Order: sequence, then structure tokens, then C-alpha cells
Amino acid sequence: MRIFSGIQPTGRKHLGNYIGAITQYVAGQDRGEGIYCIVDLHAITVAYDPVALRESVYDTAATLLAAGLDPDRCIFFRQGDLSEHPELCWLLSSVTAYGELTRMTQFKEKSAQQRELVSAGLFFYPVLQAADVLAYRANEVPVGEDQRQHVELMRDIAERFNARFGEILVAPEVRLPEVGARIMDLQAHDRKMSTTGGSPQGTVYVLDAPEVVAKKVRSAVTDSGAEVRRAPDKEGISNLIEILAAVRGVHPEEVEREFDGSGYGAFKQAVADAVIEYLAPVRERYDEIRSDQSALERILGRGAEKARAIAAGTLADVRQAMGVGPVRRGK
Ligand code: ATP
Ligand code: MG
Repeated sequence: MRIFSGIQPTGRKHLGNYIGAITQYVAGQDRGEGIYCIVDLHAITVAYDPVALRESVYDTAATLLAAGLDPDRCIFFRQGDLSEHPELCWLLSSVTAYGELTRMTQFKEKSAQQRELVSAGLFFYPVLQAADVLAYRANEVPVGEDQRQHVELMRDIAERFNARFGEILVAPEVRLPEVGARIMDLQAHDRKMSTTGGSPQGTVYVLDAPEVVAKKVRSAVTDSGAEVRRAPDKEGISNLIEILAAVRGVHPEEVEREFDGSGYGAFKQAVADAVIEYLAPVRERYDEIRSDQSALERILGRGAEKARAIAAGTLADVRQAMGVGPVRRGK
């Protein structure tokens, strides 16, 4: 069982990333062969600063290692270290429909947020993401709900490729967390918590100090009622219930039962305490790991070698099947 997922080195990672993706990565190390990638090539599709990007790669790498990724038990690398991903992206673009890309929600949302340039890279993002995963013939892709559409697209790309060129690629399954697949911004309930598009007060960062987390949770926008239960017109409280359930590893109903009759104040305090405790171990380990940049480079470099050994094989098969480049001897 092979598991692949990527995470962007944009800004600081948040509670939504942690619940939706990072905890699944850590668990994946025990369920199969985990391959995890910091996707710097995806981060350049929106406005960014090159110096800050390099630093963010280290920040994100240190966050993932502090959260429990073990480079001896998984393959952990930086996307830009390999040329196989962008090359496979180009080859797969020939079996990707332009119309499919125009329907991607992420493209619609992110292109609307850009102030200067809507890059072609932003439009092509899902094809590169398909290449990331298909290069490893991964069976499973752990992500948050917002990425479901992109995983469905990469399945279509793999199936279309195989129908046209032979059984070479694997169509992967999406894996969403049971609870917390879409954590919403604490200040704006119509959008997910986000690294690049969220409100600062509505985004709980993994490395936020405890008092900062407490303040953000306490000032989360909620309705004027008093009942701690999920409902379509109670988005703020529903989101906090979901967060507490995810952090505790229980069903949201259990949270509703426990806080039946208690007011929003006490409930928010309980959510704040639980989130602070949940993130504390990562915060404690982070500084030490982040401070040794050459150790981080070594880890990513070793990961890249292991990743290349797999991706290069897939790429050679794809080139051969597509009739690109010279014939491979013995094939
Ligand atoms: P951006 O909004 O700029 O795309 P991001 O917060 O989505 O940034 P990514 O690095 O793109 O960060 O996503 C990493 C992983 O976190 C993906 O698997 C994504 O589905 C998941 N994820 C992102 N936001 C949330 C969220 N609010 N709730 C649950 N999972 C999330
Ligand atoms: Mg994202």
C-alpha cells in the first residue's frame, strides 16, 4: 500500500492542515509506504518571494518532522529537487481535458484572489499534482475535502492514460479524515481555514502561542443562540464542535452530548484548552528541528534520492509508452 501526499510551503501551516492532512501523514507511516512532499513548485503559482519560499520550505519541513514524520519510516522530500514531476506533468497534459481544468474550484477561487497576475501555472496546478501522485503509482492520497476534486481529476487522467497507452499508471483513492476534513475560518464561515486566503484572526497556526490560540478560539464568530449543537445556521459553533471532535478523536455527537446545556463561553474555553494541548508537542519540538538547517537539507536530500528512484522508473515507462524520446533497449 503506497500513500502519497504533498503540502505547500506557503506561510505557516494551520490547524486545518494539521487535522486534515498532517495527522493522516503521520498515521500513514504505520499503514503503508508513506511518501510526502513539500511542493515548492506548486507554491510559485501565486505571488511569492523567492527568499521567503526557501525559508518556508524549512519551516514546513520542521513542522512535519515535529509532528511525527520519521524520515527513516517514510520518504520525505522537496518537489523541486526532482525534474521528474514537471516532466511527467507535461506528458500528462496531453490526456487532460482543458474543460476539466476550467471546472476546478480551487482555480476559480484562487484566480479571483490574485491582484496582479493569474498565472498559467495556477491553471495547470492540478496536472502537476496528478504527476506528483501518479509518478509513485500511489494507492491512496490523504488530503482535506478541498482536494477531493483534484484527486478525482488525477484518477480520470490515470484512467485515460491507461486506456490510450496501456496499463501503466495507478488511479489512486482519496482519503479524507472522518472528522475535520474541512475546518472553516473562525471569522468567515464561508471559507476554509487557509494558508494564503484566510483572515489572520480566523486562522489558528500550528505554532501559535497558547494565549494566541485561546484568543482566536474565544473570539470565533458564533450565532446569537446558546445551544452547543450542529445546524446549518450555526456554522461557527458547528465548526468548533468539529474541531473539538477531531482533536479528541471522537464523533461530533459526543461533543454535543457533553456540552448539552453549557453556554458558548465554557464551550469555547474547552475547545481552546484542547487545541492548545493538541498542538503543544509540535511546538515544543519545532525550534530545535528548525534551527539545524543543514540537517533539514540532508533529510530532504536523502528523501529526494529515494523518491527519484521510484519516479524515474514510472517516467521511463510513460515516455516509452507514449513514443517520446529514443526507444528503450530491451523493451
Ligand atoms: P491554500 O489555501 O493556499 O491552498 P492550504 O491551507 O490549503 O493553502 P495546502 O498546503 O494547500 O494548504 O494544503 C495541505 C493539505 O491541507 C491538503 O491536503 C489540504 O486538503 C489540507 N487542508 C487545507 N486546508 C484545510 C482545512 N481548512 N481543513 C482541512 N484540511 C485542509
Ligand atoms: Mg490548498
